[in-house]
Amino acid sequence: MLRTGGRLFHLPTRDSFPFFTKSRMQLVIQNLSKTYTGGVRALDNISMTIPTGMFGLLGPNGAGKSTLMRTLATLQNADSGSAMLGDLDILNDKKRVREMLGYLPQEFGVYPRTSATVLLTHLATLKGVGRSSAERREIVEGLLQRVNLFNVRGKSVANYSGGMRQRFGIAQALLGDPKLLIVDEPTAGLDPGERNRFYNLLSEVGESVVVILSTHIVEDVKELCTNMSIIHNGRLLFAGSPSQAEATLGGRIWAKSMSKEELRTCQVEMDVISSKLIEGRPVVHVYSEDDPGKGFEMVAPNLEDVFFSQIKRNIRAA
Ligand code: ADP
Repeated sequence: MLRTGGRLFHLPTRDSFPFFTKSRMQLVIQNLSKTYTGGVRALDNISMTIPTGMFGLLGPNGAGKSTLMRTLATLQNADSGSAMLGDLDILNDKKRVREMLGYLPQEFGVYPRTSATVLLTHLATLKGVGRSSAERREIVEGLLQRVNLFNVRGKSVANYSGGMRQRFGIAQALLGDPKLLIVDEPTAGLDPGERNRFYNLLSEVGESVVVILSTHIVEDVKELCTNMSIIHNGRLLFAGSPSQAEATLGGRIWAKSMSKEELRTCQVEMDVISSKLIEGRPVVHVYSEDDPGKGFEMVAPNLEDVFFSQIKRNIRAA
């Protein structure tokens, strides 16, 4: 509380904002499968548990991420399996799920030439958020403050930068105090500053709700997520924390800086996990149970090593 000139003001606290309502829910997905007409098995018996906090669903394009996200967001049906959020049956109780779900799709659609305040108020009305217009205004302004758009709330959303649009997308997803927030590939196209601001916002939100962040960008998961999974061709390849993921490769990743010509030979002879240009020269990571010699040095595995080696192994096993 703040006292100025004899008047009392209530300073906003975490509890003033709807999305800070604490929740310890977890999402339990069991044996989820989906095959599209045409035969693509987009989800192949997926099981995982997603606790409150930031959860990264990492996979390359075509892995099945959006299929999973859309299924959890009640926008499409699975063939079999279950998904429970606490005692809520996501696949069969769609109406209740929609009341507690926030969703930021990959494509938010066309941004109209209206201000953030007007658009968010309109979306709040559609969602039935707020019992009166005064309450709605308070919620809308609180959300615009939280996503750091309050100072530009009067500007047209159509003229916002990519990062501002994504933050607006989070504000609309947070309307109605969701317990589950699904964010599909949110950082594509953001510059590093915008990406950072977006990371900070998401990690703050993740303190109180289940947030599933689907991405093909390893950096997103590394920066943000306490738990993660890797999926590829509809299969779950790993589930756990990023550090557990890295530990699975302990002592088996070896690195060397080499010429492009040497890299070509290396790709034939060794199990190359990744090669990155550093100052124009390839730095190559290989997987090997033993010291491969030839000037390679053992390095601490990173999340990219895990991601690429899991995918390679899955392709070989197919
Ligand atoms: P991601 O989001 O990881 O890129 P998707 O879930 O979009 O993956 O796609 C998984 C697989 O399912 C891909 O092979 C894709 O081509 C296929 N797929 C996605 N949607 C459909 C659809 N509506 N009909 C047929 N195949 C689809």
